[in-house]
Amino acid sequence: MGNISIFNQASYMTVTYLSLFLLLFACIYASVGNKQNKGIWLLFWGLVVDFISLYVSLHSAEVYSQGRSVEIWVFIEMFLCLVSMLMLAMASSHILINNISDVPVVSAFGGLGLIAIIFFLYVFPDNTMIAKMRYIFPLAGFAYLSIGFLYQINKKRSSGFIFAGVVTSFASLIMILKLLGINYFIYEAWYMPSVIYVLLSISMIMMKADFFAKKCDESSLEIEKNSQRIEEIIKYSPFPIIISRLSDDRIILANSNAVKLFGIMPNELERYHFKDFFADSENRHVLNERLEKERVVQDFEILVKTPTGNTPFWLLASANIIDYNYDVALYTAFQDITSRKNREVLLKNQATRDPLTALYNRRYFEEEVFKRIVEAKKTNEPFSVLMIDADHFKKVNDTYGHKTGDKVLIELASTCERALRDVDIVARYGGEEFVVFLAGVNARKGKIVADRLRESISEIVVYSDEGEEVRFTVSIGVSSYEISDNIDTLIKTADEALYKAKENGRNRVEIFDKDDMEAFDNKETQERMKNEVNNRHPIFEKEENTEISLLDGIESNHIQGENTNIEEQKEDRVDYPILGVDEDDLK
Ligand code: GH3
Ligand code: MG
Ligand code: MG
Repeated sequence: MGNISIFNQASYMTVTYLSLFLLLFACIYASVGNKQNKGIWLLFWGLVVDFISLYVSLHSAEVYSQGRSVEIWVFIEMFLCLVSMLMLAMASSHILINNISDVPVVSAFGGLGLIAIIFFLYVFPDNTMIAKMRYIFPLAGFAYLSIGFLYQINKKRSSGFIFAGVVTSFASLIMILKLLGINYFIYEAWYMPSVIYVLLSISMIMMKADFFAKKCDESSLEIEKNSQRIEEIIKYSPFPIIISRLSDDRIILANSNAVKLFGIMPNELERYHFKDFFADSENRHVLNERLEKERVVQDFEILVKTPTGNTPFWLLASANIIDYNYDVALYTAFQDITSRKNREVLLKNQATRDPLTALYNRRYFEEEVFKRIVEAKKTNEPFSVLMIDADHFKKVNDTYGHKTGDKVLIELASTCERALRDVDIVARYGGEEFVVFLAGVNARKGKIVADRLRESISEIVVYSDEGEEVRFTVSIGVSSYEISDNIDTLIKTADEALYKAKENGRNRVEIFDKDDMEAFDNKETQERMKNEVNNRHPIFEKEENTEISLLDGIESNHIQGENTNIEEQKEDRVDYPILGVDEDDLK
């Protein structure tokens, strides 16, 4: 491509070498991560071989000036020109079409070129033809190359190829003009190769930029396709699905099922945050924590509230983190489980509640109080049990009818429930009997609470179907931790106190105190003996000592009145504002 004038001055050579090095670095830069890097390297080494041929040309000129035979050097020079041409042609093939087979191109052009060299050098020596071949070979290489580059003109992001195409076309043009013998100083200038190398370096860098831009385009396209796919899936899903941005929790997509479910307008999605739909915001944090650990969360139960303020409902959610439209997003699909949840609650209530009064039933009371006694013993907390029985209730039924009797029981139950604290447990023990566990309350305070409760109940008015006023009273028996920590004994002794209250005239409260214990024990023993005489099946009998403590094996500090200090410790615990019982009453 150049001529031997490059070697005339050291500065020319330096500039040429530097530009060649620049091209080397540009090729390294352009080829990293580039599928067409084979073409790039063929181009570079093709130019290097072309430059070497120039050096051989210089050497043969020297040999010629010494009057020696130069045929072999001319052959080497021509051969290198041919190799350079083939490499440039192959570079073009690789850039033009990836992975094209090199064999036919190399064989055809290489074979013809070699025959031409041998023919004009040895068979019919022709200096003019040899001189022309110096231009024909690079011209063929460059022309092929320029076609390869310019072929990319219609493709996107091909500015680097087009620039390289223009540069190689320019180089080809120079060689055509040289071949035609139209000489102009610029064609012969020593710096021509350097200019070409620098321009090609620039085009390499442009190719790299194109490559990056193309990758960006591809990934944008991929993201868009992916987003479209997600939108399609969501659109046709039978489940409500929403996508919320992870960074700010805003809803960015919701299908029509979700829009309906959450009662929101499709065009107002961005107004809402995902957390807005959580009735319990703590639940949102829990979901996030699980997502941080697992990325995919299945079967997560959420109590959902809607902006329209309807009653909250239960949803089962499956959530996972996805890439959506350049955002990291949360994809959540829902399933309405309200009816399942309602059924669960219903079943639980059926198992633990009394259907008439909705109070806890006897079984739940006994199970729960057992646990509470264990806890109370650990912390030395006092506790009491009240047994409440409606007075002459049979008479209520007989006079006003069973339905009115039911009304009385419902009112009685709700009065107890309202009057007592959340920490207390009220249950329907059976018939017109109710049982209460008072937490943190000793027998003395328990009696004060019971008396106030009795008074409140005596003020209740229920109307019969005929519109008659029905009033009623209750009698209450109190037992406490001072008597026993056994739930069975507590209930029995409270019942014993209740019996006393009935005997003493009803509408009153009696405490079972320690002095009653002896008589109670005798009664229990008699009862047992009676049962034995009646020959009951042993499996229904308790163990020999009749009282199996539910707290067996747990350290007890206050069985049967050993722990009077607890009262002092817990003096300020009881406060029943509804009953008007507060600390002052209890002192
Ligand atoms: P005492 O003051 O001695 O307790 O008299 P009492 O009439 O309340 O006692 P008794 O145990 O003789 O009567 C209880 C009555 O409660 C008998 C029963 O018909 C009635 N009863 C039990 N369960 C229900 C219920 O669910 N609804 C209604 N209406 N009555 C019930
Ligand atoms: Mg009764
Ligand atoms: Mg009764």
